[in-house]
Amino acid sequence: MHQHSATPPAERLSGVRLADLTTLRVGGAPREAFRARTSEELARTVSLLDVSRTPLLIVGGGSNLVVADGDLDLVVVIAANDGIEVNAGGVPGLVRAGAGAVWDDVVAATVEAGLSGIETLSGIPGSAGATPVQNVGAYGAEVSDVLTRVHLYNRETGETEWVPASSLELAYRYSNLKFTGRAVVLDIEMQLAPADLSIPLRHLGGERLPLAEARADILRVRASKGMVLDAADYDTWSAGSFFTNPIVPVAVADEVARTVGPDAATMPRYPQPDGMVKLSAAWIIERAGFPRGFPGDDAPARLSTKHTLALTNRGSATTDDIVDLARTIRDGVRDRFGVTLVPEPVWVGVSLD
Ligand SMILES: Cc1cc2nc3c(=O)[nH]c(=O)nc-3n(C[C@H](O)[C@H](O)[C@H](O)COP(=O)(O)OP(=O)(O)OC[C@H]3O[C@@H](n4cnc5c(N)ncnc54)[C@H](O)[C@@H]3O)c2cc1C
Repeated sequence: MHQHSATPPAERLSGVRLADLTTLRVGGAPREAFRARTSEELARTVSLLDVSRTPLLIVGGGSNLVVADGDLDLVVVIAANDGIEVNAGGVPGLVRAGAGAVWDDVVAATVEAGLSGIETLSGIPGSAGATPVQNVGAYGAEVSDVLTRVHLYNRETGETEWVPASSLELAYRYSNLKFTGRAVVLDIEMQLAPADLSIPLRHLGGERLPLAEARADILRVRASKGMVLDAADYDTWSAGSFFTNPIVPVAVADEVARTVGPDAATMPRYPQPDGMVKLSAAWIIERAGFPRGFPGDDAPARLSTKHTLALTNRGSATTDDIVDLARTIRDGVRDRFGVTLVPEPVWVGVSLD
């Protein structure tokens, strides 16, 4: 019992609300909040809270979180260990980053150093430590393409260990860390390739550009869709793509196409190795009758005016407003197409059902 009174080594913050820590800018007050500035502080803080069975939430950049309003029965631990090592230990292309490093700073540093592999992941908000959690990806690349090892604090065993990326079961917007909280990512390690040109850019038909140009182009395209954070633009007060692209049997995809009618010729269909078909959630949402900006000008929570897949806070939304809108979209899509969209962000203290 006396571990209960042990003081976590991390900096204690006061007056913190999840609305201040998340890009949706909604969510209530945790019991307490700590900011861990080193990997050791992060692991030790979580271990002490676990010993006293205190419910906790690890927060990086808060860009994939939907958290309930009001008083929250949990303690927030913010990962703020932000070191970045490029060509670590003299190994060309080896990159290590602390969990709290800003992901886009990591990308910028690697592009600057002439390393290719994550340039298409430019502009994804959040922390390096969260990238394995849902295997972030964009424009045809995923962090799993380059991730070699992850330094974990295993909350089940209390061990701190480097584990191979293969042990995380990385898949489309998924790893066995997501939703389970079984371990805390302390650091990540990636192997990139020294190169002048980028990996093939899917949005440019596979063209390769000089690394810095590729990064600039991705940032430009993302910004045009409200997918780069900008405090002055409510279209970016979001959690990014709110639903994952549904992966369905061919028969279901055909049925969606039949329901859509003549427009079906433009329906994106991405065949998967296992014979299933990945559909575009954004396209389906629009065809289910939810245009950009839905439900209109007075609503505190709306679809982005640039992209139907982002649910946004127009300045005064509460978590309930966001959840209500998500439910309306999910139910509307299900009623029209029989496809149930699954939210991409991590939900804390709220649910769609
Ligand atoms: C405008 C916008 C655009 C986006 N675009 C993309 C995109 O193109 N592709 C994409 O994949 N995602 C995208 N996202 C989603 C989001 O940016 C990523 O999921 C990102 O990796 C989340 O990082 P974070 O640090 O903000 O995580 P948080 O929101 O802080 O946390 C998300 C989850 O990960 C857990 N977590 C965070 N850090 C750790 C850690 N160190 N150890 C263990 N668990 C941890 C949290 O507890 C929580 O469960 C976008 C989001 C926004 C707002």
